[in-house]
Amino acid sequence: MTDIKRPIYLDYAATCPVDPRVLEAMLPYFGDRFGNAASRTHVFGWQAEEAVEAARREIATSLNADPKEITFTSGATESNNLAIKGVVEYLAEAGKKHIVTAVTEHKAVLDTCKHLERHGCEVTYLPVAQDGRVTPEQVAAAIRPDTALVSLMIANNETGVLHPITEIGAACRAAGVLFHTDAVQAFGKIPVDVEAMNIDLASLSAHKLYGPKGVGALYIRRRKPRVRLAPQIHGGGHERGTRSGTLNVPGIVGFGYAAKLAREELASESARVFELREHLRRRLVTEIPHAIVNGSLEHRLPGTLNISFAYVEGESLLMGLKDIAVSSGSACTSASLEPSYVLRAMGLDDELAHSSLRITIGRFTTREELDFVADLIQREVARLRDMSPLWEMVQEGIDLRTIEWTPH
Ligand SMILES: *Cc1c(COP(=O)(O)O)cnc(C)c1O
Repeated sequence: MTDIKRPIYLDYAATCPVDPRVLEAMLPYFGDRFGNAASRTHVFGWQAEEAVEAARREIATSLNADPKEITFTSGATESNNLAIKGVVEYLAEAGKKHIVTAVTEHKAVLDTCKHLERHGCEVTYLPVAQDGRVTPEQVAAAIRPDTALVSLMIANNETGVLHPITEIGAACRAAGVLFHTDAVQAFGKIPVDVEAMNIDLASLSAHKLYGPKGVGALYIRRRKPRVRLAPQIHGGGHERGTRSGTLNVPGIVGFGYAAKLAREELASESARVFELREHLRRRLVTEIPHAIVNGSLEHRLPGTLNISFAYVEGESLLMGLKDIAVSSGSACTSASLEPSYVLRAMGLDDELAHSSLRITIGRFTTREELDFVADLIQREVARLRDMSPLWEMVQEGIDLRTIEWTPH
């Protein structure tokens, strides 16, 4: 037990370590294959371009897309910005200025929508059910004649909850509205097929899939329908004019190789990761009273667990868990300790949101690590509850909701 290397990394939804095989594939492109993929006049450029095109093919294959439909970017934040601003700017001339999204989207989508609202767009933010999902009926009902785009993620980064993407895509297609999805958390973990799922644009990021940080892609459909968008970065005309800027060749090589590995190992890895997560989940919910899993268990990524421990103070819990790297339901934005807006949208009160942990399991997680983690969490929760007067009352069978607290 004690010889387990610490801290234990269980925050794969935040970022992943680069797979050593990916690093190996990238290294030559920091060395003698340093060419600029846009140099057309010599072998250094040709080599770099060839490597970029090979990576583009790998990513396209993983999505069931055509390589021409893949545009490289600096990451999914940029991809989300390009998809939403690009489509809305292009369709503005046709009088389309309405976007449909959901309250639980990533900030890269929500803040882009907020920006566009300040520039004359209208945005419908769909609420989610307690299980974290939106329905295709909600989407269909929100679409208007002036709707330019629907943007809904496949898998949520805080809870791992999956939206019914195929049906949502079909609803958009039926209404003739473009459908963008932030596919970052899903890509490489569950099958993502842009044809089967009726997806028109999809944002990807390499570092959520054991590739390097600072590189991503946007899938942009070319036929049925052909998606057009206004570039958001100008100069040089790279990526067919969609996204200018010298390509990050080593990063793209790593991204392509990471996508290939994820595709080839998806079935075995997702089964292994799912088994591990279920082992941890079962231990936590059986050994700790009042442990509540947040979000649909059925419609969820294999490696993600979001769990609240009632009657425990979130900050104290995290302090007791220094040996493990996990996220909490308290987003430390600026100085304030805000409860997670995703969990709040699912109906959790501030207390439960604050006392939640996001534990994400990945390629390098072992069962021994998770047993260590389950023991540690169980011990810490028990220790904190022992010190809590609230917990004492719960133990005595007092219903806390019936108590009238006197202010002091
Ligand atoms: C990480 C993440 C992003 C941002 O990706 P970057 O490449 O880090 O900019 C966007 N959406 C989701 C769902 C994410 O998890």
